[in-house]
Amino acid sequence: MSHTQSLSDTIIALSTPPGTGAIAVIRLSGPNCIQWTAENLRKPKLLEAESHTAHFGLFRNPEGEVLDEVVTTVFKNPSSYTRQDVVEISAHASDWIIEQIIQRYLQQGARYAEPGEFTFRAYMNGQLDLSQAEAVADLIAAESQEAHRLALHQLRGGFSREIDHLRQQLIDFASLIELELDFGEEDVEFADREQLAQTVTHILSLIQQLIDSFQWGNAVKKGISTVIAGRPNAGKSTLLNALLKEDRAIVSEIAGTTRDTIEESIVLDGIPFRLIDTAGLRDAADTIEAMGVKKTYEKIQSSAIVLFLFDLSSTSPDQLKADIAEFRDQNYHIIVLANKTDQLSAPELSAHQKAIGDIPILPLSAQFGQGIESLIQSLIQFARDSQQQAGSAIVTNSRHHAALTRAHEDLQRVLEGLQTGITGDFVAMDIRQALYHLGSITGEITTDDLLGNIFSNFCIGK
Ligand code: GDP
Repeated sequence: MSHTQSLSDTIIALSTPPGTGAIAVIRLSGPNCIQWTAENLRKPKLLEAESHTAHFGLFRNPEGEVLDEVVTTVFKNPSSYTRQDVVEISAHASDWIIEQIIQRYLQQGARYAEPGEFTFRAYMNGQLDLSQAEAVADLIAAESQEAHRLALHQLRGGFSREIDHLRQQLIDFASLIELELDFGEEDVEFADREQLAQTVTHILSLIQQLIDSFQWGNAVKKGISTVIAGRPNAGKSTLLNALLKEDRAIVSEIAGTTRDTIEESIVLDGIPFRLIDTAGLRDAADTIEAMGVKKTYEKIQSSAIVLFLFDLSSTSPDQLKADIAEFRDQNYHIIVLANKTDQLSAPELSAHQKAIGDIPILPLSAQFGQGIESLIQSLIQFARDSQQQAGSAIVTNSRHHAALTRAHEDLQRVLEGLQTGITGDFVAMDIRQALYHLGSITGEITTDDLLGNIFSNFCIGK
């Protein structure tokens, strides 16, 4: 985006979605915005307005014709989102009015804001660090309570503090090493290598914890991927529909759904799940089916939960045992569901349970809704356990995850260096690398590409 653009001119954008609505908010940031607004409203006193005040007025074009009745909110530098003078104009949301207002400011010398440019200014002026700026985009995109909670925590600086704390420990560590370097020629080891190794091991474990938390952070952002697997006719589609009906919040279709799997997202107890039904497979023609099987297998491999469904009325314990075999000892959590219990007068699970040992079987009638509530409870339980395991500082962003992974590799080399007695300058180099990677998370260290990437993903007006 416009990170090479000037920060000192006055930018303008529509900050609400385009289209008809009750009210539209047009936002300006920069040194001239109050002056120009005062002219457009014929209200010279606006120049002396206090920060955070709202003013009713008639917005006029240069010929003096009234365009709209508007409410203008004034924020004065530095008490604003961008730490510049900011004006927000609430106008009636007609495309025509909005266009006229924006055109008027462009004539006065304003410039159209680039995507994310308001937030970019907030970042450049020190209002937000980089990870907080990224949280703004996450907050806007949050579709569940948990995603919202994580984004807000990051926006409020919780995550940044965690990273800063890590960096500080590393800086302290680096200074010990540098001290040793300064006196290197005299062959004095100020920093006890044993102790240094301990410190680095500690920092490594903290970083590892953050890296691991990404599994949860990512699941919350995208939905915990939950594959529904089982033989044809086991009742997979029926179960999917039953779960969709039980959604405790929004149901939305996931873009990019392919014909071999159906994906739906549901929110249970504030936590998003992505349900993947593999049923579509069996309808496909032979060659496509073969591809589908591979895809399905990949989906299962990368999922967090597998719901394995079998038809209790027509599946022998041995058959179940064989079917389950390939799901054992994998990374995902498996829940085995005995479906169609309604077809049996006295459903009996003990032989099946015995056949598969320690994986508990839940009885179910997907069609009649029996057992759905227990299944939901066990999904929620799994999620809460994962949440607990992830700890309080959660990585939700793949860029942060990559940077932490790099820093971990750097420090691993530091540790090896200390243990093999490598010279201090090599160790110091790796520490500097680790600091660089940690610093890139909060934006202590940035490159133009990085900034461009981050802010161009924002919408215009943010
Ligand atoms: P899929 O191939 O695994 O997706 O299975 P479907 O969901 O299409 O179900 C196959 C058949 O089993 C359909 O006729 C369903 O109506 C029926 N079915 C699914 N669940 C149940 C259930 O709990 N009880 C009964 N009696 N029939 C079910």
